[in-house]
Amino acid sequence: MRHNLDKYEAEVNHLQNQTLNDLLQDLKELHYGLRNIKKERDEVSEALIATNMCPKCLHALTIETWMEDRGECFGSPATETLAHKVCLFCDWEED
Ligand SMILES: [Zn+2]
Repeated sequence: MRHNLDKYEAEVNHLQNQTLNDLLQDLKELHYGLRNIKKERDEVSEALIATNMCPKCLHALTIETWMEDRGECFGSPATETLAHKVCLFCDWEED
C-alpha cells in the first residue's frame, strides 16, 4: 500500500512539475511575443513621427517652437530656440 502511495505521489509531483514547466514555457513565449509587438509598435511610431504624422491619431503634426533663456554669452543675453512636434488633434507631443 505504501509503495502505491509513493508511486502516486511521485506521479502527482511529476505532473505538477510538467504543468509548471509548460506554464513557464508559455509565459516565456508570451513575453517574447509582447516584446516583439512593442518593438514593432515603436518602429511604426518612429516612422510616423519622421513623416510628421501623429502616432496616436494619424493627423498631421505641428512643429511648436519656443525660446529658452540661456543666461548670457560674451556679455549679451543668450536664448536658444527649441522645437518639438505636437498633435493639435489629440494630446500627443514629442518627448
Ligand atoms: Zn494625434
